[in-house]
Amino acid sequence: MTERANLYATLGDFVVYRNLEPADERLRGLPEIWPEIGLSSCRIPRKLEPDYATTVVHFLGQAQALRLPNHPLKRLLYIGDTVMNDGTAIANLGQHKPILGVICTERPGEAKKVNVNQGVMTANRWGALRDFVPFVTEEGFPLDEEMAAIIDLDKTAMGARGRNDGAIDAARVEAVRRTMAEVLGSQFDMKGFRTIYDELNQPPYHPFTADNQDYLAYICLMVGGGVYDYETLLADLAAGRLSIFAQFVEICAEHLQDRISSELLPVHQEVYANFRRGDPTPFKSFRYREYEETVARMDSLPAETDPSKLLAEEIVITREVVDLARFLQERGVLLFGLSDKPDEASIPRAELVGEGYAPIHRTRMKVVGEAIYEELSALT
Ligand SMILES: [Mg+2]
Repeated sequence: MTERANLYATLGDFVVYRNLEPADERLRGLPEIWPEIGLSSCRIPRKLEPDYATTVVHFLGQAQALRLPNHPLKRLLYIGDTVMNDGTAIANLGQHKPILGVICTERPGEAKKVNVNQGVMTANRWGALRDFVPFVTEEGFPLDEEMAAIIDLDKTAMGARGRNDGAIDAARVEAVRRTMAEVLGSQFDMKGFRTIYDELNQPPYHPFTADNQDYLAYICLMVGGGVYDYETLLADLAAGRLSIFAQFVEICAEHLQDRISSELLPVHQEVYANFRRGDPTPFKSFRYREYEETVARMDSLPAETDPSKLLAEEIVITREVVDLARFLQERGVLLFGLSDKPDEASIPRAELVGEGYAPIHRTRMKVVGEAIYEELSALT
């Protein structure tokens, strides 16, 4: 039988999305704590930054104090999917507390491989999470109430990288497509959109797009709507006449000045105003659609759906991750979930709440993957 659950069942509301305001209202978020943890402003740090680790460690301390006031945390574990992003976060967290991490990506075409480097285990199987527990024990980390396990949500606890992450990306691409189709109407050209999006979504363009999907969605829209010609854009980027997103927005603002009847004007004004305020998620209307497209891919297909179709089209909870989490929790380990997704793409806006929509971690999904809980329990 296909099991269904939400991540709330494992993590409760000990979850933060990109804005670093914990879902559990008893925990004070970044806007309240930044002065006391030594940050210079309430600007939201990204996962790669040391300030991100400082903030997360403070949340962990607050969460621990709620359950055990006189037992500060002594050790951390980290479960993630990306060597670069999660690896850096682990190193930064290690400046605060001793930490061990595991980073998995499913690569079914390869023989199983598990490596350990400087306290971080990397593996090409999610099933290798079963090997993490003996590793932690051998490293002399007791699994107890003085330990917290940080669990990455995106492409780790759900949408496992290498196995189910395509469904997460598909939700985002569909949100960009819908945004463009709704704004441009009959002018919208699907093939042209994919060409622009797929080209500019690549790492060589990251200095220009800042790897920010809000920026990318806006660029696709302005190019698709003819505000900035595509060939000119590529030529301007190649020649260095255009290098950062801020320049692009200003040029579009200029071009749109004499097109006040343009259907692009409202979204341009939305992005332009938010961008100038320094909001890292300036394209709210796109992110609201991303939320809708993401939850539309949760537990949407019949239970008897072929597993490969399910993993391609639905976003599911990673069984290996929740099995490991449950095993750790039963030994007293505090669990805390981190997501890098913008809050606008993770939490329903007010008018949807009444229709039964919930934050991503409270939304029901199928649970798919290898069951490792029994095996872990037999270890001890
Ligand atoms: Mg991730």
